[in-house]
Amino acid sequence: MKFNPHQKMLLGIAIGDTFGAGYEFVRNYDRDKLQEINIAEYRAHPSPNYKHKKGRYTDDTQMSIAVAELLISGQEFNLENLADFFVRCYKRDPIVGYAKGFQAFLDSISTKEEFLAKIISTSTRNGAAMRAVPLGMMNDPKKMVDYAIINASLTHNTPNGRASSVIVSLLSHYQLFERRIATVEEIMPYIHNVDAETTSYIKKIAKMDVLDPELLFGQEHKDKGVPCDGMRTAGAVFYLLSRFTEPKDILRESIRLGGDTDSVASISLGINFMHREVSDLPQSLYDELTNHAFGRDYLLELGEKLADKFPIPRLIG
Ligand SMILES: [Mg+2]
Repeated sequence: MKFNPHQKMLLGIAIGDTFGAGYEFVRNYDRDKLQEINIAEYRAHPSPNYKHKKGRYTDDTQMSIAVAELLISGQEFNLENLADFFVRCYKRDPIVGYAKGFQAFLDSISTKEEFLAKIISTSTRNGAAMRAVPLGMMNDPKKMVDYAIINASLTHNTPNGRASSVIVSLLSHYQLFERRIATVEEIMPYIHNVDAETTSYIKKIAKMDVLDPELLFGQEHKDKGVPCDGMRTAGAVFYLLSRFTEPKDILRESIRLGGDTDSVASISLGINFMHREVSDLPQSLYDELTNHAFGRDYLLELGEKLADKFPIPRLIG
């Protein structure tokens, strides 16, 4: 199976999300035990409260689809249109996996007007970061960063929320266009005016030799894994992508970090997988990925349209 990088970006987002959703905030967090996870098999989240089914992706993928669809539509990338695509994507396919409060919000509204009127947009969580990978397709990084800020402003209009969206879009962009991970020096100019805290944090993560949970997750979360926090999620993704290159390792290590495993695995694998092959992961992860109306085949079709609209220049050599 030969797919273009845009298709593999979407597959990576969905496979990481679907796999990670089985491990999100599992109790009895034990990093060494988690290392033994079977990456050839999706699992449903063990808690019935999650209502998550094996092989099903969650909010990370659905919101990334919404961002990708807005980019393809040719409509202006603004708050109103973004809200419209989020509402429409959820209403046509009301999946589980959203944060409780946000899902209740989506259930309570039916139009972009209601979304814009009722949203409380001061979250510092990782919702903007989790849907920023598709922005990397844009060939002008300055314009892309403007879009990343708009992406955050709708729901996560905080320095931390904005910086997380910018970092993820940059990591995605460099991987797609240059087949490498952006360095801390390349990220800095785009975030130092956005959030001082995230800037100094990312610098520290770049220098972290061995995993330091207190530094990466924060003191309060050092035994719990990656919190649902924009800055910490961007830090975990930057840490993983800077140190691991094999898709299997990205998946395993995303789970090993613990905490918000589906968002970390979704963002990280979405970026890592663009120039890899489906055969670099167990075939079961492709075969058993949900193929409902907006599942695997839909993602592949969307990826083809993205490749037409946002071509990447062929690298020489
Ligand atoms: Mg999720």
